[in-house]
Amino acid sequence: MPQILHPRDAIVRVTRSCICGSDLHLYHGLVPDTRVGMTFGHEFCGIVEEVGPEVPNLKPGDHVLVPFNIACGQCHFCKQGLFGNCHESNPQATAVGGIFGYSHTGGGYDGGQAEYVRVPYADVGPTIIPDWMDPDDAVLLTDVVPTGYQAAEMGGIQRGDTVVIFGAGPVGIMAARCAWLFGAGRVIVFDHLDYRLEFVKNYAPAEVYNFKEVDDVVVFMKKTTDGLGADVAIDAVGGDAKGNFLHTLFGPKLKLEAGSAIPLHWAINSVKKGGIVSIVGVYGPTGNMVPIGNVVNKGLTVRANQASVKRLLPRLIEHVRVGHINPKAMITHRVPLDDVADAYHMFAAKLDGCIKPVLIPNAG
Ligand SMILES: [Zn+2]
Ligand SMILES: [Zn+2]
Repeated sequence: MPQILHPRDAIVRVTRSCICGSDLHLYHGLVPDTRVGMTFGHEFCGIVEEVGPEVPNLKPGDHVLVPFNIACGQCHFCKQGLFGNCHESNPQATAVGGIFGYSHTGGGYDGGQAEYVRVPYADVGPTIIPDWMDPDDAVLLTDVVPTGYQAAEMGGIQRGDTVVIFGAGPVGIMAARCAWLFGAGRVIVFDHLDYRLEFVKNYAPAEVYNFKEVDDVVVFMKKTTDGLGADVAIDAVGGDAKGNFLHTLFGPKLKLEAGSAIPLHWAINSVKKGGIVSIVGVYGPTGNMVPIGNVVNKGLTVRANQASVKRLLPRLIEHVRVGHINPKAMITHRVPLDDVADAYHMFAAKLDGCIKPVLIPNAG
């Protein structure tokens, strides 16, 4: 059982935690400084068990959802609403702030795939779950929903825009759904897993294509947009994508590149001149072979960040309340925490139609 270590800490008893696509980077040993014994899990909600003396906003018994970013609320970056880039929660890093359960590069904090978790800066992040909200919806507001929403937001979507999204994982699915909220006129999703394409086709809804069945994604996108390209392209895959020979060589083999940047190539090359590329897929710190010349010559705007969960929560809670977003529809599996290893295997291998698995502690 974790202990209060700082006056701004809280201890939360976890009631739901999710496995995320980015947990697979840890699972596959791709994240530097992932230490044996650390607990994974950055998507969780639960019940406050104990609070430190400087957490006036919470009391034991409160049901809370906890943003995946750990943010102090007071530094230069938090003050701008950049809660994913907090400088205090991860001072050793130059880019990202603290993240629950995401290695020592994410600050070395234990995560929520556990029965209890210590929540630092508990006066900032944890947000009371409204009485009417299903905890299955609440747990998805810790990462997937805000990340998909911010992907659409960063795309600067104008009314009637054609938006292409690479990746039909939970974040891509949510980005497709949210693109409509920003006024998109057409939403197109690429992936290679037919069951996920089928889901997003109905859920967003969206036009869906299996990129393995399309000769050339970029040419396809040009043809379907009168030769112009999409107005907005969203990379919701990141370095996970299976690349070509050179990407495999530079990535897993030579460690010069963490994974492949294929979806980013597609995004840059299939968006129109003057268009916007929004990146929420997770990449390692270095990425090679990105067609940066095309970014310059096409006059593209590239926006990227990890979602600023805390900033977005008020409006996302409202979107859930009025029915614009139905997060829990993405949950395909509910697994007792004790069977976490099976859940990782199923999710990593994309078995049994898995989109989003939720872990339930003490499920018996
Ligand atoms: Zn996540
Ligand atoms: Zn901060």
